[in-house]
Amino acid sequence: MEENNKKRFVTQAINDEILSKLSLKNRYQFLNTNLMTVLEPPEFNFLKKVQKFCMRFEKKNNITHGPEEDVYEWIPEFGAEGYITRSHNFDMIDINYAEHGATMEFMRSLAMVSFNPQYSMAGGATILAINPLFEHHENIPIRLEVLKKFVTGQTPGAILITEPERGSDAVHMLTTCKEQDDGSFLLNGEKIYNTNAPKSDYVVAYATAEQNNGNTMAQFLIDTSWDGWRCERVSIPTVPKVYLGKETFTNLHVPKDYVLGGVGKGREHLFEGLVPERIGIAVDCISQCWSALSHAAIYSNNRKQFNQEILKFQGVGFLLTDLWARLMNVTLGLLMFTKSYDSKVEKFGGSLPKNISQAMVASASQFKYHAAKLSAEICYESANLMGGAGVCDNTLMQDLLGISRIAEIIGGSRQIQTYVLSMAMRQLYKMTGI
Ligand SMILES: Cc1cc2nc3c(=O)[nH]c(=O)nc-3n(C[C@H](O)[C@H](O)[C@H](O)COP(=O)(O)OP(=O)(O)OC[C@H]3O[C@@H](n4cnc5c(N)ncnc54)[C@H](O)[C@@H]3O)c2cc1C
Repeated sequence: MEENNKKRFVTQAINDEILSKLSLKNRYQFLNTNLMTVLEPPEFNFLKKVQKFCMRFEKKNNITHGPEEDVYEWIPEFGAEGYITRSHNFDMIDINYAEHGATMEFMRSLAMVSFNPQYSMAGGATILAINPLFEHHENIPIRLEVLKKFVTGQTPGAILITEPERGSDAVHMLTTCKEQDDGSFLLNGEKIYNTNAPKSDYVVAYATAEQNNGNTMAQFLIDTSWDGWRCERVSIPTVPKVYLGKETFTNLHVPKDYVLGGVGKGREHLFEGLVPERIGIAVDCISQCWSALSHAAIYSNNRKQFNQEILKFQGVGFLLTDLWARLMNVTLGLLMFTKSYDSKVEKFGGSLPKNISQAMVASASQFKYHAAKLSAEICYESANLMGGAGVCDNTLMQDLLGISRIAEIIGGSRQIQTYVLSMAMRQLYKMTGI
């Protein structure tokens, strides 16, 4: 067993042989063997490239994934390598990634989640702050500067939508913004559950000129060193390494250059971010499933009871293969979606026209809904199949179990996805002319 695995746990419960078989390298190998016939060479090569970086990073820094490690410390090195996001090409800040787009982002996430699920979740929230700057920088220097800081890992970012009294009903906000004569704004109100906010130098936030009126929403970039910004950490015990914030704005002054979308533009900007956000969560959830399944597959092929590898007992083997079949099918579906998304983006010169993006809202909700459900089930069942080894602190299964508990809540709850889908189905039914 490698030295750096020893410090992850209080007491070693899994034997040396099986624990070493559960190494990051072997878990990647299990994933790659599954995907090698499915992926195109550029996708597979990029996946392996990110995996190689993660393996080296883990070894070089003696990462144990133990409770004392601060995942935020890892961001600059991943940023310098260009592994914060591959959703876009950032030519406006002179960053040109040969491998970019939704499919490459899927590859990045598959590698990242197996490396460390909580680190990957924090990275996902930074991407949510990157997207609005990518769309609405208008070549204004401060916006480009902050965009570069996010993309190169100089600081994490956060997106502030949710409020203590407005969660699912996000468009009827209570946080107000009041325009001043010089085009700047004063913000007052509270936000909550904002991933990364306590660690971020900059965040993107929404507020409204008139409370409860979604048509008067606006979108702002905020420097968290400004007076009027206060942030307390909210603890989410199932993701203990991720910092979430509860923020209070008290006459927080936002200069004009930091107004990403003025009054009346906020709602449009919010909805524009929803398709990539939900697809991003779906990709993360599928990556969590692969990570959990690779643990369970390696474990059940090695753990013996009644003198047999436990995989050979139907109760274990049939459940594991049921999860495997369903995971593979959804992975293929999601891959088809990301490829079709990428080809549309390419066709329209870099970003999607509004009507096409709107048409993808239902697919994004379907994937988010299904993938989050699958993460909750596969992470739980994989741990369960590993018995005590799946629920003790010896492997990353603990982190996967924890993160899979929040998958259905973030980015719009299960009920909100099905609500969105009911309305989409009504619209689709009307289109049929029946
Ligand atoms: C770990 C974590 C990270 C998060 N990160 C961010 C972030 O980075 N930025 C951010 O802005 N927010 C973030 N959130 C907030 C998240 O988006 C909200 O928690 C979520 O939208 C639900 O809002 P709520 O918690 O207020 O629940 P509520 O809206 O109060 O919902 C409570 C229950 O009622 C149900 N419900 C509500 N309305 C309906 C309806 N119309 N029909 C059927 N059921 C309904 C919900 O499904 C849920 O089960 C995060 C949350 C968590 C837990």
